[in-house]
Amino acid sequence: MTTLRELGEIAVLERLLAGLEPGAGVRLGPGDDAALLEPAPGRALAATTDTFVEGVHYRVEWSAPEAIGARLAAANLSDLAAMAARPRWALLAIGARRDGDLESVVGIQRGLGAALARHGASIVGGNLTSSADAEWLTLTLLGDVAPDRAWRRSGARPGDLVAVTGLPGRAGAGAALAMRLGSRARAPEWRALLDAWLVPEPRVGLALALAESGAVTAAIDVSDGLAGDLDRLCTASGRGAELSARDFPEDAVLEGAAAALGSTVDRLRLAPSDDYELLLAVDPAQREACATVAAARGVPIAFIGRITDEPGMTWVGETGARAPIETQGYDAFRTETR
Ligand SMILES: [Mg+2]
Repeated sequence: MTTLRELGEIAVLERLLAGLEPGAGVRLGPGDDAALLEPAPGRALAATTDTFVEGVHYRVEWSAPEAIGARLAAANLSDLAAMAARPRWALLAIGARRDGDLESVVGIQRGLGAALARHGASIVGGNLTSSADAEWLTLTLLGDVAPDRAWRRSGARPGDLVAVTGLPGRAGAGAALAMRLGSRARAPEWRALLDAWLVPEPRVGLALALAESGAVTAAIDVSDGLAGDLDRLCTASGRGAELSARDFPEDAVLEGAAAALGSTVDRLRLAPSDDYELLLAVDPAQREACATVAAARGVPIAFIGRITDEPGMTWVGETGARAPIETQGYDAFRTETR
């Protein structure tokens, strides 16, 4: 292994820059003091950033460097998807230990760049520095969107349907199994949950297609957990929501995890979980149109409840029993780290 200290900053940077492809709209790419980017006329820039800290957001024993990079890309891509913005340009900052492995840093960037490229975005610059302790990665991602087409959290109206893509709760269950069972969580029966946690697929393509339909009145991505993120959407919209257990898609694997973790499938669905799925308020008249767009892209979508006039969130169980939903999203300072 070659350490970063052995090679030195300039040589490491040269190695990182050599792996980058210039993207569309890039007038000047990496290598100068700043990149020059050219947004299309009439489009607004959407900007988001996320930091992953080793030991908090990822563990090297669970993911190869490429997968860590791809997951950081997914976290940012998912935020742009929640705005219905098209991913364009990214800045990557890395804080690595001096005795860190060159190939690990190169692998992180390679995985991250490949994940961005699948959605039309490229790395246009960044920063490389040394970290005394945990490694960390910060990605800033810019996208573009027609300003009047951008989704927000604040547009939900009473009577709108609540829709979610994929199978919420899986990522959190995968992380919980990994912490509980250690390497036994790698058993084939938990594979789908570990994949949801470690190799999430952001819903960029679906978001762009749904934005065309005009069916979505408010949106957020599920990065902290269904209950926590729904609460944010409801608060921003000044509304509440009612979710129905019966309307969730069957998830036998999640049921198995609930048994193994001493929980219930309903609790896992609402718990802290970085699924990077879309949580949407949908015009009820557009339900079928919405389902058709999702089916055409092969993305599961479920209509799991509705927006209510009065604030607060209610859970309607299989039997019809109603109970308040507690907000329990991931909290960077309160939730136990993985
Ligand atoms: Mg988000």
